[in-house]
Amino acid sequence: MVSQELLDILSCPNCAQESEGMLEYFKESWLICTECDRKYPIREDIPVMLIDEGDKWIKTKKEELEIPPPSE
Ligand SMILES: [Zn+2]
Repeated sequence: MVSQELLDILSCPNCAQESEGMLEYFKESWLICTECDRKYPIREDIPVMLIDEGDKWIKTKKEELEIPPPSE
């Protein structure tokens, strides 16, 4: 479980400089940027907020994301 406090301060590293980079907390396993659609996996309760990681899933529909996220 990721704490609400942590969720509140996280934003998409790709978008945060120009806008809010607001994230959707999806099935307790992913954070999805509402602007660029990058998807950041949450592994062992740690959100992996790396642009390179978000890039890997940018074309994957959220319904097709693995729950839980693959380890690498
Ligand atoms: Zn973004």
